[in-house]
Amino acid sequence: MNFQRLTIKQIHQGLIEKKFSAQEVVESYFQRIEKVEQKIKAFLTIDKDSAISQAREVDEDISKGKNVPLLAGVPFAVKDNILVKGLPCTAGSRILENYKAVYNATVIEKLKRERAIVLGKTNLDEFAMGSSCENSAFQKTCNPYDLSRVPGGSSGGSAAAVAAGEACFSLGSDTGGSVRQPASFCGVVGLRPTYGAVSRYGLIAFSSSLDQIGPITNNVEDAKIVFDVIKGKDKKDSTSIEPKPKTRSTENDAKLEACKFKFGVPKEYFSEEIDKEVREAVRKMIEKIHNEGAEINEISLPHTMYGIPCYYIISASEASANLARYDGIRYGREIPEGKDLSLFDAYLKLRGEGFGSEVKRRIMLGTYALSAGYYEAYYLRAQKVRGLIKQDFDEAFRKVDAILAPVAPTPAFRFGEKTDNPLQMYLSDILVVPASMAGLPALSVPCSKSGDLPVGIQIIGRAGEEDAIFEIGKMIEKIVSKNNNI
Ligand code: GLN
Repeated sequence: MNFQRLTIKQIHQGLIEKKFSAQEVVESYFQRIEKVEQKIKAFLTIDKDSAISQAREVDEDISKGKNVPLLAGVPFAVKDNILVKGLPCTAGSRILENYKAVYNATVIEKLKRERAIVLGKTNLDEFAMGSSCENSAFQKTCNPYDLSRVPGGSSGGSAAAVAAGEACFSLGSDTGGSVRQPASFCGVVGLRPTYGAVSRYGLIAFSSSLDQIGPITNNVEDAKIVFDVIKGKDKKDSTSIEPKPKTRSTENDAKLEACKFKFGVPKEYFSEEIDKEVREAVRKMIEKIHNEGAEINEISLPHTMYGIPCYYIISASEASANLARYDGIRYGREIPEGKDLSLFDAYLKLRGEGFGSEVKRRIMLGTYALSAGYYEAYYLRAQKVRGLIKQDFDEAFRKVDAILAPVAPTPAFRFGEKTDNPLQMYLSDILVVPASMAGLPALSVPCSKSGDLPVGIQIIGRAGEEDAIFEIGKMIEKIVSKNNNI
């Protein structure tokens, strides 16, 4: 049986009705990995034995008539910057090449409690810095739709794994778009949760005021299921928050039609710099949503253009502080021994050899932006502009319930297309960075194709209103399947 396209609920149903076993499900994913992984290169680590023994335990409990949770036996992949106890966690960097996690991230604890099964760890841009997976120190993951193209980044391995049928779902992290953009490039669903909705404990820190872990799935319903498990306040992450109490009554929820939402379409997200085909694909979808009876308003988010400079100052500054801990003493790669190196020279050598060029670029940029005399001119100013970006959204959400926009300016680009020009690469984040800066939840859902390549639509919601954007995402899925245009 082919389990690859089953939803989480379908897997659960099949298991409890004993149509198939968890072992069969997990084994079928490993068979798929064996078949396609040489081409896709989504995984950095695979954990077959432990996955199969966990699946057997699930099967045993089912055969004894015990109730098992919805995610029991469901196989998933984890971005290699999230700690899974006992497995390597490299963050895609040589500096952590030999590091093994000694504890589970909170999200992993929660998923394991539900008895979901880790298949392995997926490739990423080094320390999640990048938009194509080309900054990984280990391998280049390929886009399953076109192997000559990137899967997006930085959670490219996680998105490609789901798109290629190598995992039922995966976890990524989104600092400035790293779940949404690869999801869009690979034709899958990706959620960036509200800042604080999901614990960051056990996520290797890149930019702490922006980092969020989010699910990558085949469909919106699965994204909601995974999000509902991983969300919630965690005493190990002081920035995590209690989920917002439901504002709409359950009775209303049952009747709630997504077309009752008021939508905003920001004109800045459809500028000339955005690929014409992408603009047209997203516009067409918005038209169809309108035809379903939804109210659509053009809105303005005037500070959008400052998103990139601001994001790259703030994230690089925070990264320079967060990455100071990789000194060869506490984690990973060891400080070179033997020769008469002073401690300072040993640090230079270790960090010089251990970090790739993009990471070094950001450490230098961030250290500069935080240094005395420049802090006010760069970091502080960027924080103030961040406030303005957030105000744009606050203003918009007084008039509309959700914002619809493209995810990325182009579909998946070719390997090497942007590697010589870091600014070009940074600009590809222009449509995903603002929601990150404002701490808002945003969902990427496949909406069309440009040639053979998937194009996603982005739904940005009010803080804490993931349920609303899931509802809208489901409506978009219905429209797509009705039109059969993907
Ligand atoms: N592409 C962005 C960057 O390089 C976003 C990365 C992310 O969200 N982790 O910083």
